Amino acid sequence: MLLNLYGHTDPMKEFISKIRKQLDSVYGSGEAEWLVRSIMEDVCGITRTDMLLKDIKIPDEKKREAEKVVGRLLKKEPLQYILGSVMFCGIKISVSPAVLIPRPETAELVRHIVAQETGKSPLRILDLCTGSGCIAVALAKTIKGAELFAAEISPEAISVARNNAAENGADIKFVECDVLGDISGLPAKTDIIVSNPPYVTESEKKEMEANVLNYEPHRALFVPDDDPLLFYRRIADIGLSLLNPQGRLYLEINSSYWGETAEMLQQKGYTAITVKKDSYNKERFIACTLTQKITDK
Ligand code: GLN
Repeated sequence: MLLNLYGHTDPMKEFISKIRKQLDSVYGSGEAEWLVRSIMEDVCGITRTDMLLKDIKIPDEKKREAEKVVGRLLKKEPLQYILGSVMFCGIKISVSPAVLIPRPETAELVRHIVAQETGKSPLRILDLCTGSGCIAVALAKTIKGAELFAAEISPEAISVARNNAAENGADIKFVECDVLGDISGLPAKTDIIVSNPPYVTESEKKEMEANVLNYEPHRALFVPDDDPLLFYRRIADIGLSLLNPQGRLYLEINSSYWGETAEMLQQKGYTAITVKKDSYNKERFIACTLTQKITDK
């Protein structure tokens, strides 16, 4: 039994410690702590400070809701799908199992683009394989005056992305298309192409967590082992035909293939190729410029 400062029992702390123990059995302690904090805040409406300071009564109904969430988490379902949204670059992005959960690395990509491109308006920006639309929405909200297009193959994902654009008041033109196929719906004379396409190879599956493998859309994650650059080659070609002179390409990449990706971009005629590491110290992003078109398609 947990006692508070005055020697009384503290039902809130008891509840917290109960769900903490359950989550500790499946998650590492850092992650379990983050999960408990998120459940208290997002499900029970109790802030971190309240959690530490006050003896708040959690209504039974909220406790039941929180217990249901814990039950799903114990099966490794991602919290973001359970809650239905995630904060990305300070923006609320709704997610469903039709889309990848936006990663902190992708927010780094957005911040990098914003740092490089703000003030160079008017810009036309095209986000390929937009998924939840997180990149396009964040850029539309941050780079004022930019005209945003976003392409995606999955109709279910596009509807999540459209909803995210509407909820955040972002004006984005969505194009439902397979970037590996017919791209006639995409806009020409684009200044920036950005993409976080599928890049995890099939053989990297074995290193992935159950919460990713069992719940996130495989179509958004995986590429065949024998063609890890499948999407990057195609995106580079799309850039050759759609980018304006001095147009820029910004990509999130598989860190195991950064050298090959940079080389391929160079062979296609891109210049000023820069590779950037993410906060985990992995080569995660490539930016480059299309100075002059070698092939005019
Ligand atoms: N970064 C994601 C992951 O590791 C993969 C994203 C992608 O394939 N574009 O799960």
